[in-house]
Amino acid sequence: MLKIGCHLSSSKGYLNMGEEIISLGGNTFQFFTRNPQGGSKLKPLDLEDIKKFNELAKEHNFAYIVAHAPYTMNLASKDSIMEFSKNMLKEDLERITYLNNVYYNFHPGSHIGAGSIEGIKKIVNSLNEIVQTDEGPLILLETMAGKGSEIGRNFQEIKDILDGVNYKSRFGVTLDTCHVFDAGYDIKTNLDKVLQEFDNIIGLDKLKVIHLNDSLNTLNSHKDRHAKIGLGNIGNEAIINIINHPLLRNLPFILETPNDLSGYKQEIAFLKEHYK
Ligand code: FE
Ligand code: FE
Ligand code: ZN
Repeated sequence: MLKIGCHLSSSKGYLNMGEEIISLGGNTFQFFTRNPQGGSKLKPLDLEDIKKFNELAKEHNFAYIVAHAPYTMNLASKDSIMEFSKNMLKEDLERITYLNNVYYNFHPGSHIGAGSIEGIKKIVNSLNEIVQTDEGPLILLETMAGKGSEIGRNFQEIKDILDGVNYKSRFGVTLDTCHVFDAGYDIKTNLDKVLQEFDNIIGLDKLKVIHLNDSLNTLNSHKDRHAKIGLGNIGNEAIINIINHPLLRNLPFILETPNDLSGYKQEIAFLKEHYK
């Protein structure tokens, strides 16, 4: 069965997201752990809501769900933003442990002029400061488009971070189809070659989630503007190829396309229909 879902708003709680994704025909979803543009203020955890959600997820055979860190988290920054980022990471990781079958996804960071080598060092150091046990949810580094000074713009940068962390079993990778396409990986005409490269550099055993998005921009544009499925430069044929690829077909696919709920419902139905 295709593991498919989309990004949902967490404002009404976990049980609500669970019921929402079922109504959209999905069996997984992603949510922001807090306001994606801000992020310091948090509501206290509603353990009763989480318990009900865990039961619903079990009953409906949900795949792993994905908690996405806010965009303001930058583990390659310095001073107060660095402290703020590390605190968010620590707090988020503690809070999501109440959920069964959850991954934590984050954007590696932006070096803001310090250079990627320096940025990678900072990311590794902050991860090692916060993650000090093999126990706990898997933390996924997202592949980025390489916009501005973003780190994770190629597989090697992701690998360099993975090489530096102490508790290696805690870490994995999310491949975002829009981002890698914009970063210059031709998943449209040469998916096999891209996956081979991923395997050679990072190892496909580290790949845990696919963010399934079309791209408004062209290969190697380093832009990061998501498009609806089939309405971008990746296109339906390549997207269908991705969900059916033997090396990818069992992973959870999360849509982050510019849609309202009915648009997501249509995309989910379309992808299920084309899953062989
Ligand atoms: Fe993301
Ligand atoms: Fe993404
Ligand atoms: Zn993006």
